[in-house]
Amino acid sequence: MEQLFADIILPLAIQPLTFVVGEEWREQISVGSGVAVPLGKQKVYTGIVCRLHHNTPPYKRIREISGIVRSEPLASVGQIALWEWCAEYYMCTIGEIMRIALPSLLKPSAESDDLFSERVFSLGKEQWLRLGEGVRTEEALSCELEKLLPRRKAQYSAMMEFCGLTEEMGLECGEVPRSALGASTPVIAKLIEGGLLESFTRERTPHYNTAHLTHNTTLTEAQEVALSKVREGFTRHHTMLLHGITGSGKTELYIRLANEQLRAGRSVLYLIPELALSEQLIGRLKEAFGDGLTIYHSRMTARARTEIYIKLSRSEGGEIIVGTRSAVLLPLNNLGLVIVDEEHDTNFKQEDPAPRFSARDVAVWMAHNLGCKTLLGSATPSMESFYNAYTGRYGYAWLGERYGSGKLPRVTVSDTIKSAKRGERRDHIGKELSDAIKEALAEGRQVMLFQNRRGFAPYIECPTCGWSARCPHCGVTLTYYKKGSRLRCNLCGYAIDSPTRCPSCHEGEPLPQGFGTEKIEEVISEMFPEAKVVRLDGDIATSGGRMRSVIRSFESGEADILVGTGMITKGFDFTGVKVVGVLNADNLLSRPDFRAEERTFQTIVQITGRAGRNDAEGHTIIQTAQPDNHTIIQAARGDYLAMARTQLRDREAFSYPPFVRLIKLTLRHTSPELVVRGARHLAQKLRQMIGKGVSDAHAPAVSQIADNYYMQILVRIERSESPADTKCLIRSAVGDLLRDKIYRHISLVIDVDPQ
Ligand code: ADP
Ligand code: ZN
Ligand code: ZN
Repeated sequence: MEQLFADIILPLAIQPLTFVVGEEWREQISVGSGVAVPLGKQKVYTGIVCRLHHNTPPYKRIREISGIVRSEPLASVGQIALWEWCAEYYMCTIGEIMRIALPSLLKPSAESDDLFSERVFSLGKEQWLRLGEGVRTEEALSCELEKLLPRRKAQYSAMMEFCGLTEEMGLECGEVPRSALGASTPVIAKLIEGGLLESFTRERTPHYNTAHLTHNTTLTEAQEVALSKVREGFTRHHTMLLHGITGSGKTELYIRLANEQLRAGRSVLYLIPELALSEQLIGRLKEAFGDGLTIYHSRMTARARTEIYIKLSRSEGGEIIVGTRSAVLLPLNNLGLVIVDEEHDTNFKQEDPAPRFSARDVAVWMAHNLGCKTLLGSATPSMESFYNAYTGRYGYAWLGERYGSGKLPRVTVSDTIKSAKRGERRDHIGKELSDAIKEALAEGRQVMLFQNRRGFAPYIECPTCGWSARCPHCGVTLTYYKKGSRLRCNLCGYAIDSPTRCPSCHEGEPLPQGFGTEKIEEVISEMFPEAKVVRLDGDIATSGGRMRSVIRSFESGEADILVGTGMITKGFDFTGVKVVGVLNADNLLSRPDFRAEERTFQTIVQITGRAGRNDAEGHTIIQTAQPDNHTIIQAARGDYLAMARTQLRDREAFSYPPFVRLIKLTLRHTSPELVVRGARHLAQKLRQMIGKGVSDAHAPAVSQIADNYYMQILVRIERSESPADTKCLIRSAVGDLLRDKIYRHISLVIDVDPQ
């Protein structure tokens, strides 16, 4: 018989390896099976079969697989194609993709044979109840129930609840999960003892049940038009962009479209940028989809993720999953629709570690290759997506009206320099903003204040000599925290007490400069002592509990003013907000990034969108020293098209995405000299191979973190060039560098489409 070979993906940073499939395994093995293979002297690894074939590989010794640990496929053929594409596109190994796709079950280990065992892989068991054998006729049942009624009230009502549920759920043979009954354990035990009920266990398979579809809002005319535009667009495009202003009801449209797919028995994947800030959204989705809604994110326990993974890989469709970026790699059969909510959000891109993939772009690939449709939605689409819609690669639907009589807030640009000159600025708050806050509070409405720096002050400075405190390990300024008068590095966590005397001139007394959220919280509390002020930023978010309680207190109206960083700009639908303040738009604009203006626009428009929801007017005040800046003017007008025109013109002129593709190479080493030399060497090499698209080696904006030094090279690939060819050249140049005696200890990270 012809020899059978299997290419196996291993959870290591290597490409698939080929093994022989022994006679005894031929029957059971298939693409997607989990197998154990020998590696090295005595190690056994588990991996997944990605291909079965008869082509003898060109190595001398081909080893045999040691066994099959799971014959039921863990990944479909489509899935493996997706992994392969990801690995190739994002320049990582398929093992790295698999490692993030599969719940942490494939850890390489010498005794990993049992990693796929049924124990790990079996779904959680759950207790179920059914009628006892003796009472399965109506007669016998009512006779027994009558006996219970006079003396055993609790048992009687438990039985009534049971019977009611079996009818309501339309379940055959009267079976009900134990958890659905409110009765206490002793009562159930008595009923089992008395023969009225029987207990048995069953694998937990929470299944989507179309009977749960309770969503019954009526769409407005504008929403109906946008919805039919999306539906119609999907007949011609794999991917649609839904561009709908904040509060226009995009979520309502997503729910409709998802329902249609579920009714047709297809699955829906609903991707969100972040879970912690999406409690409100999840609540709405739960309401719409009932128990069938599966929530998936990378911080769940391995066990919960495994259960979901298996449930989905066995399902034939009709599933709805809401999840963060890693959910895009779940095994979804019969997938009808992928929704990417807030598609502009950078959280869809994984920055570290590999694979550095964009869930949004993977979803677009899926629509083109796996037969589903992908809907990208945003009030402020990324330039990439907008450009793709503009050029007709994606379809486009516009929704330009807020739901209800809610209007977009009035926007005032407040000139910080003028107001300081007029003496109308106190502690970073101009008169326009403080008047607006006063008015909102008087009306019993709420205020959100946005400042993109956390801590009390971003740095301290000596007034005598200009010295400022910097992190010795990162070279950035240390953030000042008022509590305990501490200085802390937001990159590496290094912390010291703030000096009272300047360590450089020994004369001056260093003072906090600039302002962060903590300071604003303090200032605002002093200015409006009757108001309750809460804060949401990276320092609060380290505790999930604190963060939730802040969100809840603002949502319930208990808190009047919410001060926060970028977090508060996202997705919230607080109905009581009247005033939104952007305290300092300038530090958004000044970020050293070609996307700074796009991001400034997005941030301001998104946060403005939190005000004036549901029938009440709102007011946004943007404080800036550059009131004439075009991005500020465009954001104040909410003029997306003007912003897009400006940005696209600049991007084209300076060769940035979406007009070119970018690949960022980052080199890291503890020796600054070595990393600079290595980067220069590599840049020169790349330029010889690729040409003018290669930038000079340069230090990134933050060039030192935790005693490591960084250098960067950007490679631009023209739209007309083949990215695959360039990637191949990059791989070879990088490989050469890392084999070089001098440079081989440099760490190198390749980021495709960096954000
Ligand atoms: P977006 O996601 O576009 O910002 P949302 O979907 O959050 O907008 O809608 C804003 C608010 O309007 C939400 O509170 C939502 O429940 C409500 N809403 C939108 N459309 C409808 C509708 N057709 N019927 C009832 N409420 C709606
Ligand atoms: Zn000094
Ligand atoms: Zn540091």
